Amino acid sequence: MVTRLFLLFLLPCILLHAAETRQDSQVSLQLQWLDQFQFAGYYMAYEKGFYKEAGLDVVIKPFRKGMCTTDEVLQGRADYGVGRSSLLIDRLKGKPVVALAAILQSSPNVLLARLDSGIRTIKDFKGKRIMLTQNAQESITYQAMLNAEGLSFDDMVHQEHSFDLQDLIDGRTDLMACYSSNEPYLMEQQKIPVIGFSPKEYGFDFYSDILFTSEAELRNHPQRVKAFLLASIKGWHYAFEHIDESVDLIHRRYNPQQKSREALHYEAVALKNLAFAQDLPLGHITIDKFNAIYDLYRVMGLTAEPWGRTEGFIYSSPLNAKVALTAREQEFLQEHTIVFGSTFFNAANGSHGYPLNAIAQQMWSKIAEENRIATRPEYFPTCREAWKAVRDRVADVTFYFDCSQASLGDVLFSKPYATFPNVIATRSNINYIPNLSSLEGRKVAVREDSNIVSQITKRYPAITLVPVPTMGDAMRLLKQQKVFAVIGILPLITNAITPDTRSEFKVSGTTPFTHHLHFMVRKDYPELLHIIDKTIDTLPLHERDMVLSQYAPGTSTEKIDYSIIFKIVLGALAVIAALIYRQYVLKRHNDALLEMAHTDKLTRLHNRLKLDHSLEELIANYWRYQRPFSLIMLDIDDFKKINDHFGHLAGDQALSSLADLLKRHLRATDILGRWGGEEFMIICRETEIEGAVALAEILQEVVSKEWIEGVGHITCSFGVTAVQEGDTHENLVKRVDDGMYQAKESGKNQVVRV
Ligand code: GH3
Ligand code: MG
Ligand code: MG
Repeated sequence: MVTRLFLLFLLPCILLHAAETRQDSQVSLQLQWLDQFQFAGYYMAYEKGFYKEAGLDVVIKPFRKGMCTTDEVLQGRADYGVGRSSLLIDRLKGKPVVALAAILQSSPNVLLARLDSGIRTIKDFKGKRIMLTQNAQESITYQAMLNAEGLSFDDMVHQEHSFDLQDLIDGRTDLMACYSSNEPYLMEQQKIPVIGFSPKEYGFDFYSDILFTSEAELRNHPQRVKAFLLASIKGWHYAFEHIDESVDLIHRRYNPQQKSREALHYEAVALKNLAFAQDLPLGHITIDKFNAIYDLYRVMGLTAEPWGRTEGFIYSSPLNAKVALTAREQEFLQEHTIVFGSTFFNAANGSHGYPLNAIAQQMWSKIAEENRIATRPEYFPTCREAWKAVRDRVADVTFYFDCSQASLGDVLFSKPYATFPNVIATRSNINYIPNLSSLEGRKVAVREDSNIVSQITKRYPAITLVPVPTMGDAMRLLKQQKVFAVIGILPLITNAITPDTRSEFKVSGTTPFTHHLHFMVRKDYPELLHIIDKTIDTLPLHERDMVLSQYAPGTSTEKIDYSIIFKIVLGALAVIAALIYRQYVLKRHNDALLEMAHTDKLTRLHNRLKLDHSLEELIANYWRYQRPFSLIMLDIDDFKKINDHFGHLAGDQALSSLADLLKRHLRATDILGRWGGEEFMIICRETEIEGAVALAEILQEVVSKEWIEGVGHITCSFGVTAVQEGDTHENLVKRVDDGMYQAKESGKNQVVRV
């Protein structure tokens, strides 16, 4: 009897337990459209048993008309979903979605028209009928593309999307929003010539088919998220590597639209191109690209939410995950001191890839710091010589920013640690360059070693390229009106447009070509490559932002407010307004970019870029006219502890309070800037060493006495030095830095003169 009672009592427990474990392995994935090759990776992960191997029992839920995958996932009807870039909008609105992987690096969106409609350019859209879906992301890229050509949806007749291609064939509409992987094929079958317009050709390039989940799933089942993601990516690799097999399977089992094998095959090839469009690992996703998407949403007035809401939006994935170093990698680091190939850069004339090399140096310091890598720099006169040194194994790692990799051979490349667009600069009397076709028949200067040379030659043969060695040379040609425009990577261009030339030049447009920054590693050091890749993936966003925002505008968390401009424009007459709007936005954008390029976001002080420029200028003056100047470098003592104790936000607050305090005690001629994290530099013009030491001592006392909101008393260590015969930018900075470190070593909270 007792046993039986006991069993009766135990039974529900066992059942409950069983139910629980079953639930843990059971997950569902909601698709965002009718079954087709678009979801091949998931079907293959299922059919090939990749999900099973990962301990998962996956249900793939077909699409139903009118449903929204975000709602399905957030309301718990599915654990994972496939979504569009508009997930960003959901996130900005506070919906807890987390993006895991972007299967398509570029969107397949295209507007199709029959060729015999006479439509040849976007300008011809005027008065035409257009079918768009309701989806925000789709319409926004189309809207941006129209705006770039001076049109808006109001210039066209809007029709609801019928999802029936026959409407385009029979002429019941003129333009239809389609997928480049589907409808062009069907039109080809019917032998109807078409013309397509894709937003990405106009620089509005979005991700598509993003695998996502909810914050709850990630919190409650982190292992499951990782397993599901990895198995899905494995499925995608399989699908793209075995297109015929996958097509067969989809044709048989996942084919509610009754697509032909050929149509599925066409789709497969088109999607594979989009998945690998950027030469990145399959599924790669970064916040940078969303940042550009966010800009667009703001320009279009579709969001006013702060960018900060996106913190946590991108899963730091195991495609990326922080993997502890392997035993072999640790051993490797113990055995080697890594030589970082660096160049002497010149901030003022932008030579040797400045500021990209400056970004690389700091990024390398972060990587070295993170993994406690023993490293020393080796300086080379030019980037090319640094690259050669790595190939010749004289140096171990260096930075690389023009991936015409093929020509280099015999070296390894890391994953990109930053991505920038190539933009178009012109003289400031030029209005706006909507796209690269507008440069046809013109002369355009580019850096000769840039990878856009081949891309432009291939796609826009009517543009006459003038290759030059440096961005400085390009800007000179522009100034002399020997070229109409310069195309280059955003930070290189904004660096080349200095405060005294900003009235002459401006950024007039953007291009679809983006640019990745990598590290180049010597061929026989694959361990080093892996360590670098892992660290790039796991470096916290704010750390990376801290480096990038010093040099590169537009990558930081603070954005320009376009929404107001947009509202003004809405009320005005369409055509004139569009013109004014474009100029206004561009001018604002331009000024703001330059301002951002020289300002530290947190403290509103000058940033490192600006300090570099000023130092360069003062050193030149010293050489020419012996005008003296001094430098003070200060670093907050034990700031780590402050962060640990009061939190990062209080730490940030303390940094800006300290900035204000310092500002109040300087003379008008002193230049104060943020050199890095919690380091500040003061450049004292026309000041000999004694004056600078006296100032530093005053500051040291003032700082130590001040009560700083949120953190209490802090102290700083100071290094002071004056410019001397033969000084260069590098050794001057090094000397004052040494002084500061001596102050640290002798007990902190003091001034050391060197
Ligand atoms: P020391 O006295 O030797 O300078 O010690 P420290 O702890 O100040 O030195 P360290 O340079 O090792 O650490 C600096 C810390 O400052 C590490 C970093 O997390 C923090 N930090 C750097 N930039 C920022 C920032 O923008 N905001 C906040 N809150 N912390 C920052
Ligand atoms: Mg410190
Ligand atoms: Mg420090």
